[in-house]
Amino acid sequence: MLSSTEIREAIQASAGRQQELFEEARRVRDEHFGKTVILRGVVEITNVCRVDCDYCPMRRGNARYNDRYVMTSEDILSRAREIHAAGIDVILLQGGETPRTLAAVTKAIPAIRELYDNRVEILLNLGNLARAEYARLRRAGATSYILKHETSDPRLHLQIRKETLDSRLRCMRDLLDLGFKVGTGLISDLPGQSLDSIVQDIELAGQLGVHMCSVSPFVPAPDTPLADAPAGSLDLALNVIACLRICYPHLLVPSVSALEKADAGGQSRGLAAGANVLTVNFTGDADRGRYLIYGRQRYIVRLQHVRDIVAGAGLRTRGSVFLPTGAGRRG
Ligand code: SF4
Repeated sequence: MLSSTEIREAIQASAGRQQELFEEARRVRDEHFGKTVILRGVVEITNVCRVDCDYCPMRRGNARYNDRYVMTSEDILSRAREIHAAGIDVILLQGGETPRTLAAVTKAIPAIRELYDNRVEILLNLGNLARAEYARLRRAGATSYILKHETSDPRLHLQIRKETLDSRLRCMRDLLDLGFKVGTGLISDLPGQSLDSIVQDIELAGQLGVHMCSVSPFVPAPDTPLADAPAGSLDLALNVIACLRICYPHLLVPSVSALEKADAGGQSRGLAAGANVLTVNFTGDADRGRYLIYGRQRYIVRLQHVRDIVAGAGLRTRGSVFLPTGAGRRG
């Protein structure tokens, strides 16, 4: 565990100090997870969203310009079959925050479980919902849920997301209480964010008692109020990955596609900084082009890319850590 002062120093590391930090993070990861990387398959089920985040092209304010889609349960199941065929046992269903996906997801989950003979982790990333809605998804068979705090600075959170940090944290507590494995996450280098605030982001991940935490460097996306702001630093995001790993060895920490967008080779560097999750994109071509999370120029993670960088890092792929022992499929 690092003190606040040590985290503050570590997230600014460069050159030799940064290499020492990464080496320690890899040592901790390998000790807790072996030399393995968990694979997820993601399906982006809708680009409709009722939230108005200043950094996102799918924000509510852009709804009338975007070519909107919401997948049906049959569409979701058909994508899940592809993930199953690829030997991946973590299915991530991700989309904007809208009640319009609830019925399809609730219907698709049991069908996906049947496809996998129950040996599957169903991970959702669908935003803030009412506790009763989370409970319904859990009953349907969802295992885990990503709900990133994005920034732990309440003022900045409200300013950039037009939502309160408290409402986000209330949802996280509901999810944990209902038995979900929960993932949080932060954006580093958000306009207006201080270094101390990033230290608090890292410490909040520990305080919440969550199971996963990601970090994405800020991406100035077109057609957003923050389009002209400077892009986040890849090095800072990598240092945050290493700090998360060293502070909380048990956490799943993904090497996200935004790292690759920041710089070719960014996801390999994420693994070298102690990350242990990669997510392959299984959204269909037409919908993928409409899911404008970082605008049209995002990096699409494909299976071969993941295999290459995992092998290049001297690691191997593995299945879900949240399934009963022996149930996870090996990639
Ligand atoms: S980041 Fe997520 S919650 Fe915010 S506007 Fe985009 S899709 Fe909606």
